Amino acid sequence: MVGILALQGDFYKHRSILNTIGVESIYVKTKSDLEKTRALIIPGGESTTLSKLIERFSLREPLVRFSEKYSIMGTCAGMIMLSSSYGNSVQKGVNLLNIMDFSIVRNAWGSQIDSFEQKISLKEFGINELNAIFIRAPKVNEIGKKIVKVGYFDKNPVIVEDNLHLAMSFHPELDNDSRLYKYFLNKNYYET
Ligand code: GLN
Repeated sequence: MVGILALQGDFYKHRSILNTIGVESIYVKTKSDLEKTRALIIPGGESTTLSKLIERFSLREPLVRFSEKYSIMGTCAGMIMLSSSYGNSVQKGVNLLNIMDFSIVRNAWGSQIDSFEQKISLKEFGINELNAIFIRAPKVNEIGKKIVKVGYFDKNPVIVEDNLHLAMSFHPELDNDSRLYKYFLNKNYYET
């Protein structure tokens, strides 16, 4: 069963994409919801709010423990939550989960360009012509040794993968494109 963290953000959009590819999912709001799942999606939204809600719903510890065994896919604010606080990436008001070995800078695509769409090719992931939608997206700052695959747009890393997890700075759910979901779910660690 795939879980979608449903504290904030467009979690229902992720679910409708999973529905189109016949993958069953549940919304995760509590530790016991999380325990029913074997893979998790953390949607975009606002990482400061997401941080508060993760604390309020006592999900921090369960999420970190879950990540040691099962895969998580994070998009935009979800990517921020998966990143680590090292280097100069201390994030005011954001309580990073420190799950993946990279750091980010929030809202780093320039203040006047709050959002944009861009066709990108993620060769490393076997994906061409993906319409990537960036909404006040983070930029990847440092990439640590545990990251095994990186995809770029214009020399900027926009998607990073380690042995278990996948994080991207854009919103695949907004374009009804299921390819990255299939990629995530086809990784050999996923068990139903
Ligand atoms: N800018 C937001 C943040 O810092 C992320 C935006 C998004 O998820 N679309 O959390």
